[in-house]
This record gives sequence, structure tokens and C-alpha cells, in this order.
Amino acid sequence: MERRGHVIFIGGGPGAADLITLRGARALGRAGVVLFDALTDPALREHAPQAEWIDVGKRGFSSSCAQTRINALIVQYAQQGAVVARLKGGDPSVFGRLEEELQALAEAGITSEIIPGVTSALAAAAAAGRPLTRRGNGRSVALTTAMTQERELHAGRRADTEVFYMAGRQLAMLSRRLLESGWPADTPVSIVSRAGWPDQLATEHRLDDLAPACVLHAGKPAVVTVGVGAGPVAGITSDLPAATHETEGHPAASASKP
Ligand code: SAH
Repeated sequence: MERRGHVIFIGGGPGAADLITLRGARALGRAGVVLFDALTDPALREHAPQAEWIDVGKRGFSSSCAQTRINALIVQYAQQGAVVARLKGGDPSVFGRLEEELQALAEAGITSEIIPGVTSALAAAAAAGRPLTRRGNGRSVALTTAMTQERELHAGRRADTEVFYMAGRQLAMLSRRLLESGWPADTPVSIVSRAGWPDQLATEHRLDDLAPACVLHAGKPAVVTVGVGAGPVAGITSDLPAATHETEGHPAASASKP
């Protein structure tokens, strides 16, 4: 009888290894093979020293070919009877190409489960000390990828707060598109790169002035939060410069003053 493995999709969280869930860490301990993405922390290996670790990370825009190869690898290892951990940065369900991988497994008749993780939008909100929802006027949040499959930048106004993933290299264009779609020039924007890592950086801007952010966050994974949830909490002032408010490390403690 053919041995069939099982695939566990695990959200590794946005950065430091201690942001994985307990359930995710325990699942790593059961894995024979771990297929991991570039954005996951190497320290996570401590949870699965028994497993073979395979880097399937793709930088920037993943070609459909690279994704097809990943799908085939997952199926191949599972068909050999292994418990396969598919470790993804953040949460597997958020801009993680999970749909394609689930389809490939379903076609091959392989069972799977999904363990959620802390997505970057949430880690960024924590890093900036800015709650994503606000009572009264911050009632909806949209998680948005600014880039389409054709590598065009799309941005509109769909929620009180919009969190843009994969927009770090396109901040000038993002600002222009958002202004065109009706966001006021003074809309607060919070940008956090490397959220959850010791070198995380949180800066705040006006929508019509994102230029300084291009330099500050250059080359780092970043999420851009626009709208109500990017604004400071009423009654809390910062001891950091007003125009570009930078916080490193654990800013929630340093940024708040009564
Ligand atoms: N599944 C992931 C998202 C993968 S898409 C999640 O749930 O977070 C990759 C994008 O995620 C990056 O371009 C960037 O916008 C964002 N990202 C990933 N890690 C990040 C981090 N530590 N800090 C800020 N943004 C991050």
C-alpha cells in the first residue's frame, strides 16, 4: 500500500522565532521535512533538529515556475510518507500562495492542516503602538497587496484603515495613487519594516510626504498602514521627532507618555 504523508502549513510569524505559536513550534517537532521561506527566522530550526530543512524561499516576485516547483516538492515529500512542515512567514493565509499549494495537495489526495501565525500587519501595529481598529471611526481594516500579478500598483480606498504589503519599493507611486483615490493629503501613514525583529523600525508620515520613508526602510520588508489605524492614540504623545517618528526595538514602551 502506498504511504501517504501529511502536510502542516505553519505560520512562522513575522520575525523573531519567539513569535511563532506554541502549536506551530510543536508541529515543527513532528516534521520529517521542513520546506521554509526566506522570511522565516533560522532560529526556528531549534524546534525541528530532527528534520531535513529545505529552503524554498523566493526573493521579490515569485515566478509561477518557482511556485510550481514548490508545489511539486511538497507533494513529492508527502508521497514518500513524510510529515511535511510548510513553514511560511507571517500567516500562511495572507499573501502566502497558500491557495496553489492546497490545490496541489488536494489533486494528489494528500491531507493537510493549517496553523495560523502572526501576520506582519499585526506585528507592525504592535511595533508602532497603533491599534488597527478604533472605536467609532476605525471600524474596518483591509489587508491589501499593492502589486497586481502584472506588477502594476493598485491602491484605492476600501476601508477606514488599509495595510499594504509588498509596497516598500513603490512608496512614491502608492502615495500618488492613494491621493488620487480620495485620501486626504494629511492622512496618517505608519510604516514598519522588519516588524518583530530586534532591528524593527517604525516611522510615521503624512500621505503626501512618503519620500523620507524610501530611504529609512530601503531594502527591508515593510508594511504600510494608511488611515485611522495609523494615527497616534489620543492622549499619547511621543518624545520622538514629530515629522518622522522612528521607533526601534520595543517602541510600545518608549513611545507612550501620558
Ligand atoms: N504571509 C506573510 C506575508 C508574505 S508577503 C504575512 O502574513 O506577514 C511578503 C510581504 O510581507 C513583504 O513584502 C512585506 O510587505 C510583509 N512583511 C513580511 N515580513 C515582514 C516584517 N517582518 N515586517 C514588515 N513587513 C513584513
